[in-house]
Amino acid sequence: MTQGHRPLTGKVALVTGGGRGIGRAIATELARGGASVAITYRGSQAAAEALAVELNQAFDVAVRPVLCDVREASEIERAFAEVKDTMGAVSVLVNNAGMTADNLVMRMSEEAWDDVLATNLRGTFLSSRAALRDMIRARGGRIVNITSVVGVSGNAGQANYAAAKAGIIGFTRSLAQEVASRGITVNAVAPGFVMTDMTAGLTDEQKEGIRQRIPMGRYGEASEIASVVAFLASDAASYITGQVINVDGGLVMA
Ligand code: NDP
Repeated sequence: MTQGHRPLTGKVALVTGGGRGIGRAIATELARGGASVAITYRGSQAAAEALAVELNQAFDVAVRPVLCDVREASEIERAFAEVKDTMGAVSVLVNNAGMTADNLVMRMSEEAWDDVLATNLRGTFLSSRAALRDMIRARGGRIVNITSVVGVSGNAGQANYAAAKAGIIGFTRSLAQEVASRGITVNAVAPGFVMTDMTAGLTDEQKEGIRQRIPMGRYGEASEIASVVAFLASDAASYITGQVINVDGGLVMA
């Protein structure tokens, strides 16, 4: 395949939860841009392996599926070591892995709270910490955290998820300040609603209700999230840090 402009050539990207949904689109966009890409998965081994072959063939870049439960520090350390040994030190980290376990607070179990906080927020912290050592040594790097518009707006039935996503925003801005002088940028992308497995459980009525609140009148495509992540990962975004970019068809304007 002929390659056009490849702004991410030479970069080594790690996308958590890259086997399906938005993470899959992000991994694809980064590979298209010329980056080597590590796709981490927890349950979706077959999907991650198939995507790695597909992207390698399509874009002629190294793509590696890597097992990693982002809730576990030891797994994160092992995954980063594996990537460093086989692909080189990570220069672009995308914290995409996430989950929901919706319920009203009154009925929410501690497990649902802990699991959602651990996957979305603790996972983002652990992966970022693991990536920083080499980024600081390299005097450069990019961290992009996937939050959500509900981290700002809140959402009934998603207090755990909204708290985790709001936490990611505070984490992003704090880390951005800690590492700005090292040439590392840390930003967040806040999708509105995108049809993936995560949103598949909504009823048709809920889907239509949400659609009507979106000024652009439609759901987002995973590729529309991915293109913003790829931009933030590129040298073109070198002076942007500590920002939260909403990609939501105008749903939240603040
Ligand atoms: P999906 O449910 O389709 O995919 C979730 C991904 O996260 C999977 O790749 C899954 O990996 C991974 N994952 C979940 N738990 C873990 C874990 N413990 N360790 C490692 N990986 C894990 O969700 P989306 O693609 O929709 O969501 C991607 C991100 O975008 C999430 O952070 C989500 O919160 C956010 N987002 C999504 C929106 C939407 O409308 N879809 C809106 C706003 C934000 P595996 O399959 O291998 O287990």
